[in-house]
Amino acid sequence: MNLLIEGSHLLGIPLSEHQLRLFRLYAEELALWNRQFNLTAVTDYEGIQTRHFLDSITCLLAFPAVEVRDPPCQIAGLPSMTGLRVIDIGAGGGFPGLPLKIVCPEITLTLLDSVAKKTKFLDHLVNKLGLAGVHVVTGRAEEVARDPQHRERYDVVVSRAVAELAVLAELCLPFARVGGRMIAPKKGALEREIEMGEGAVERLGGRMGKAIAVELPGFLDIRHLIVVDKVSPTPAVYPRRPGIPSKRPLR
Ligand code: SAM
Repeated sequence: MNLLIEGSHLLGIPLSEHQLRLFRLYAEELALWNRQFNLTAVTDYEGIQTRHFLDSITCLLAFPAVEVRDPPCQIAGLPSMTGLRVIDIGAGGGFPGLPLKIVCPEITLTLLDSVAKKTKFLDHLVNKLGLAGVHVVTGRAEEVARDPQHRERYDVVVSRAVAELAVLAELCLPFARVGGRMIAPKKGALEREIEMGEGAVERLGGRMGKAIAVELPGFLDIRHLIVVDKVSPTPAVYPRRPGIPSKRPLR
């Protein structure tokens, strides 16, 4: 776990022995289940440490009340996150939600994915790691967002590698409470994606925050966190039926 240790140290989050043990176990289980379930294309030990674990925990740079030194991109203080409700939309193999839970055990985490074999893995993993306060839900975001148990109930909504901003906003913002926030890690150029997604964000009750550049030299390419604050309730008509957000993205 040397890469994870060094990278998280640069990020300003020293990991305990217990946390490292959990990350080791996570990497082992991911490699084991991946043979059968095709959970990720990143299977080498180095890639799992940087492109999955480290990349996931960089989301903390955009968490509410986290103190960040800028530049460099380093966390100067993690507040107590007791009671913070976080949901990961399209969690797949658990990224970014589960690494965030390992680093901040006091959050309550919901992992949502539409594919049952992925949520089966997530259930198994949560048991194996002995994590309390994690709920795994199988379903489409477009449907689960209509359930009052989930609609506008989360302080933070995270989602990685699921869709472009215009679509993602429709899948994620209905879950955020007013005053909450959506955080989406992204690779590559963002200007066009933001330009195409801004209209959707506003219609769904969001307001674009400043994108945060994630720079961890030697560990990750420059990446960004898209940040959207939830400033008013999402109109009841959203999200539309399953598949429609990606077929006809809001503009
Ligand atoms: N977030 C993980 C990561 O970064 O490694 C997985 C990314 S994977 C490319 C996209 C995941 O989103 C898949 O597991 C897929 O099943 C899930 N997904 C896509 N659309 C969804 C929807 N509408 N509702 C729930 N899950 C969805």
